[in-house]
Amino acid sequence: MDEKKPIMASNSGNMNYNSAPQYPVQYPGGQPAPQQGGYPGAPPQGQYPGAPPQGQYAGAPPQGQYPGAPQGQYPGAPPQGQNPGGPPQGQYQGGPPQGVGPESVQPQWQGEMPDQDVDDNPNAVPSAPSAPPLEKMDTVPGYQDTGFAGAMLPPPSYEEATRPPPQRDEISNLPRIGEEEARQALLAFVAENCCYGKSAAENLKFRDLLHSSAFHYTLETYGEGRCTSWTFTPYSGQPIDGPQNGQAPGPWDIQAQPTKLFEDQKVEVEVPHTASVKPCHNCMAMGRIRCHRCHGRGRVRCSSCSGRGHKTVYRNGEYEQERCTWCHGDGRRRCMTCHGMGMITCVCCQGYCSLKCFIKLTITWTNHLQDHIVERTALPDHLVRNVQGQVAFQEQQFRVWPINHFPDAEINNASQSIVQQHASAFPSEKLLMQRHQVRIIPVLQALYKWKDTESDFYVYGFDRKVYAPNYPQQCCCGCSIL
Ligand SMILES: [Zn+2]
Ligand SMILES: [Zn+2]
Ligand SMILES: [Zn+2]
Repeated sequence: MDEKKPIMASNSGNMNYNSAPQYPVQYPGGQPAPQQGGYPGAPPQGQYPGAPPQGQYAGAPPQGQYPGAPQGQYPGAPPQGQNPGGPPQGQYQGGPPQGVGPESVQPQWQGEMPDQDVDDNPNAVPSAPSAPPLEKMDTVPGYQDTGFAGAMLPPPSYEEATRPPPQRDEISNLPRIGEEEARQALLAFVAENCCYGKSAAENLKFRDLLHSSAFHYTLETYGEGRCTSWTFTPYSGQPIDGPQNGQAPGPWDIQAQPTKLFEDQKVEVEVPHTASVKPCHNCMAMGRIRCHRCHGRGRVRCSSCSGRGHKTVYRNGEYEQERCTWCHGDGRRRCMTCHGMGMITCVCCQGYCSLKCFIKLTITWTNHLQDHIVERTALPDHLVRNVQGQVAFQEQQFRVWPINHFPDAEINNASQSIVQQHASAFPSEKLLMQRHQVRIIPVLQALYKWKDTESDFYVYGFDRKVYAPNYPQQCCCGCSIL
């Protein structure tokens, strides 16, 4: 059989695929919509929606009929709990004998294994499944460069339309902080610092109040990136949307929308018409692989007697040989991972012998935020970033125009520069939307005298935050100043 050809792809004229997903598809919850008729985790029932009529297919249905998977080879069951979705019917009959000695179970593994029993390692884990060979994947028009590792796709080109400059209102009414507000803010600040004395805040005399405004400009650019990669999942009879249903849409033709603009999000979507069923490469379509704990031997060296079958004990002034009670003198014990079978369920196909291979489209929405702060007092600039202010200006467009009408030239220049940077900063993304704003944050520098001290403090933002690194009573009893 040519593995390049999807097994389900022949006889396409007679197919009755009632489960071919329609695209464009919407993912309101940010999650890929489940395919019609999909039943994750359900064991195959012999008939599955989308299956061809029985007996018409030269290719292999999933019931142990794969070339390379001789029927009836595995009389023993895999260890319990290793087949969450249920193995294909009729493959594993009967469980492993429980509580019987090592002799009663014969290892089934016939591939390569060490000559000697290996030391037991209860913590051994199966090696991670590798990807199938890329050359075994189908050739999908438009996706020839797709590998198992995703690579970003170049976005479709953006037509720079002629946009009229927006009409913008004048900016006025700079907010201010008054004297009484300043004192209340300082008292609240002192109360938050449990070891600060409050009498300075209560009794200080204001010498001068210097009002100013900080400006905070923010540009957000919301972009969408797409990448495709081959991926696979155990084939348990779920519907297969392969090329027989039509040509795969281009990666940018699949519609998907973020649930909310300017929020980082990610969804994964199966690209329609790219799926096929392939024999599992990890187990050669046998459903089981060599046990990683006993290396296929079904037994491991007894860890109690180190494989000798006996132990030396000192009794009544003499050394005696005593039979090992763990292994009953055998020196080896049955492997507890494979119950003596030498094989475990394949970690790649989970015992189903086949894989559904398809191209996965990963869509990533990213909000790129860049800002600029203008603050001309000794207040550290970054403090105004997260306080409340007055939004003096806000605009949302596919491409915003730089601000040119703000009373402060530094803000206009920053807007010009940041808008220009964002125009080319994300070449692998399709830009969906931009918004920018200027916030005005009131800043008050209060100069005061208290006792013999002359100092100042700052109050800023609508939430009246205080910056007072020189507050004179920073010890709980005011001892440093008294
Ligand atoms: Zn084992
Ligand atoms: Zn032993
Ligand atoms: Zn497998």
